[in-house]
Amino acid sequence: MYITQCEGCGKSTPDYDITHFGSIESGYRKLCSLCFNADVAQRWGHEDFENIRLESIAITDGAGQIRQFHFRTHLLGLMVSLDAFELQEGEPAGYQFQLIGNPQDDLFVLLGRMIEKIRRALATIHLEVGAHGLQIKDLLVRGNIDFDPDCDERMPLLTIDGQQISWEEFGHMLMTFEGWQFRLEMFDRSDEP
Ligand SMILES: [Zn+2]
Repeated sequence: MYITQCEGCGKSTPDYDITHFGSIESGYRKLCSLCFNADVAQRWGHEDFENIRLESIAITDGAGQIRQFHFRTHLLGLMVSLDAFELQEGEPAGYQFQLIGNPQDDLFVLLGRMIEKIRRALATIHLEVGAHGLQIKDLLVRGNIDFDPDCDERMPLLTIDGQQISWEEFGHMLMTFEGWQFRLEMFDRSDEP
């Protein structure tokens, strides 16, 4: 795991919880989420913002596999973003979710909504192993689109059922439906596809 020392509280903090906070003029400070939120809360006058670190939670997916979710809360002026993600070698990977709330909201209510959202998403498995390897189980696939660092060209790396699927692998999966039509619809990170 990659660790950085927070320039606010001095605590050793995993990189996924560090934000480079500041501007080109004033310079950047590496702050943990708690110090970042405390700074934003002060600037925006959210004195009663609940600035706490949420513990990770284990949730079982539709295939019976236990998955560990970590949380990151960021106060962003007029809104609060809550991210939930799995870790792979200390980096966010696998299933990733986001919810947007109000700074006045009870953080545990937002966390409750997040857990419900994760459970709903994990209940449906989209891929299965078939005669030609990994295949699309039904007629619908949901996932995340990220950048594929292993590709020289700018290509997407998909995450479906919490596993990384290269664009090429996904192409092979689509060939089960050769001759069919399809509809591709995009959703914001915090929406439910
Ligand atoms: Zn800190």
